Amino acid sequence: MTTLKFYLGLREEILKQISGVENSNGYFSWDDTTPNWLTKSRLESLLEKHILLAKELGVYIVTRYTKCSNPKHEWYPTTNRYGMTIPYQDERFIWDGRQLYQNERLSTCPCSPKNKPHNNWVIDDIIYDKSADIENCRTIALILEDVSDAIKKSGDNKPRSGIREYLLRATLRINDAILPKSVDDYIAEARKTL
Ligand SMILES: [Zn+2]
Repeated sequence: MTTLKFYLGLREEILKQISGVENSNGYFSWDDTTPNWLTKSRLESLLEKHILLAKELGVYIVTRYTKCSNPKHEWYPTTNRYGMTIPYQDERFIWDGRQLYQNERLSTCPCSPKNKPHNNWVIDDIIYDKSADIENCRTIALILEDVSDAIKKSGDNKPRSGIREYLLRATLRINDAILPKSVDDYIAEARKTL
């Protein structure tokens, strides 16, 4: 998985979610027929797939439990989807405060094997492998956050424009990341020649 391959695949899938279907002329149109619950579940699988792919580029998501019903709960026990042990503030990673999600989630706190599923307050931290291209990791983190924010906007009675706003922002970030320079840099240079 190269960075470019990651961006191209993610961009294509986000555009498909924006439009529902690709028209035969190759352009994407706004789709107003897909119900929000379906958009939400599609975006959730899109996000999960790209979270797993992003690991190859050094971006990891670690879930931290701030508290639970166990009185012996201490500090921030963590879980992750990689089958690895990554304690909070693990020094192999850069923890620069970005979060994919922070709220209650029905889950089992890892502070004791006796814990049962409960509505725990969890934080999904986005962290970067210290040996990875950190600027690139930061861009990927922002894009994953946009997709996560789109999911938060995809409740049943919420307007579609909220979902699109975040998906479009993710697309703009990907466009800038794919091109040799960002559109802002291009404009700044073009202005000098006016
Ligand atoms: Zn706990």
